Amino acid sequence: MKPSTHRPTQAIINLAAIRSNIENFKAYINKKTEIWAVVKANGYGHGAIRVAQCVNDLVEGFCVSNLDEAIELRSHGIVKPILVLSGIMPEDVKIAINLRVTLTVPSLAWFKLVVANLDETIAMQHLKFHIKVDSGMGRIGVTSVDEANAIIDLADKLGIDFDGIFTHFATADELAKEKFDQQKMMFDNIVADLLRRPKYVHSSNSAAGIWHKESIQDIERLGEAMYGLNPSGHTLEMTYNITPVLELKSELTHVKVIQKGQTVGYGADFVAPKETIIGTVPIGYADGWTRDMTGFYVLVNGKKCLIVGRISMDQMTIELDERYPIGKKITLIGQNGDEKITVDDIAAHRGTINYEVVCLLSDRIKRKYI
Ligand code: PLP
Repeated sequence: MKPSTHRPTQAIINLAAIRSNIENFKAYINKKTEIWAVVKANGYGHGAIRVAQCVNDLVEGFCVSNLDEAIELRSHGIVKPILVLSGIMPEDVKIAINLRVTLTVPSLAWFKLVVANLDETIAMQHLKFHIKVDSGMGRIGVTSVDEANAIIDLADKLGIDFDGIFTHFATADELAKEKFDQQKMMFDNIVADLLRRPKYVHSSNSAAGIWHKESIQDIERLGEAMYGLNPSGHTLEMTYNITPVLELKSELTHVKVIQKGQTVGYGADFVAPKETIIGTVPIGYADGWTRDMTGFYVLVNGKKCLIVGRISMDQMTIELDERYPIGKKITLIGQNGDEKITVDDIAAHRGTINYEVVCLLSDRIKRKYI
C-alpha cells in the first residue's frame, strides 16, 4: 500500500535520535561487540530502509525476520551481513545463498530438509548460518548439544559456513532473574560443548544488553532501544539515556457543534451530554489506530482532548474545548505545549506493549524523516 500523502496524518521519525540511541548504548555497555540493528517489521514501523541506511555506518550487521525483509534491504544497497532471525521454508534457501543472507537453522530436521533439496548448481560455500538454541523461549531452536553438533558435522561435510550460534531470552525485561539465568546456563553449556566455536556467539537483545550486560557476547541484536523505547515499558528503569524517535501528528479535517442527545460514530455509542464541539481527525483502525483508543486522548493546543465515539476505519472524533479551525494541529504521539503522549502511555491504555503500538502503524501513514 502506498502511503497517503494527501492527508495530514504523518509519523515523524527523528533519524538523529536513532543514531544517538545507538551511540548512547555503545557508551553504556562500554564493550567491544558488534551491533546488529534489528530492522524487522519495517523497522518496528519506523521504515526499515531509511533506518538501515541511517545507521549503516554505526553497526556491523542487520537482523530481519524473513527473507523478503532481507531482499528489501539488499535491493536498497545494504551490503553488510543480514541475519534472518526466523526459520524460512527450505525451498527458499537458494534465494538466501544468492543474496549472501545469513540464515537461522531452527533444527536438525530443517537442516536435513535443506540439504536434501539442494542441487549441485548451488554454491553451498556461500550459505552462512547461525544455529538457534531454544534455551527456554519455546519457539524455534535446537534443544541439545547433540542436535547442534549434528548440524555442524553435516555442514562441515558439505562445506557450509557455520558462522554463529545464538539464543533469545524470554524474560530479560523482567525483574525476576530465575528464568533468565536458567536460559543463560543452558546456552552457555551448549556453546561450551560444541564441536567448535563459530565466529559469532550471541544472545542479547535490547533488554539483555541493558539489564544483563554480562550476557553480551560477539553480537548485540539491538532493536527496541535503538527506536528510543524502553523494552520493559514501565517495569524497569532505563540505565542510560534514550530519545524517543517517533511522533504521530495530524490535523482537524472537520469541526462542528452538536446538541445534547446527538450521537457520534458507529453504534451511536457517544451521546452528547450537553452542547459539545466535535473535531474529526483522519486516522482510524486501518492505520493501526485501533478501536480501543476510544476513551484515550490526543493533544490540541497543548491540552488533552478526549477521543469519543467508536474509532472508524479511516477517521476518529474528539471532543474539543473550543471551535478550532480546520487544519488545527493534533498530536497523537509526542509533545504539544506542556503536554506529552508517549508510546508507553498508549500501550498502557491498550493493555499491550510499546512494540505493538509502533509496529501496528500501517503503511498508509506517511513517514517524514527529519
Ligand atoms: N533477537 C531476536 C531473536 C528477536 O526476535 C528480537 C525481537 O523480537 C530481537 C533480537 C530484538 O529485540 P529488541 O527489539 O527487544 O531489542
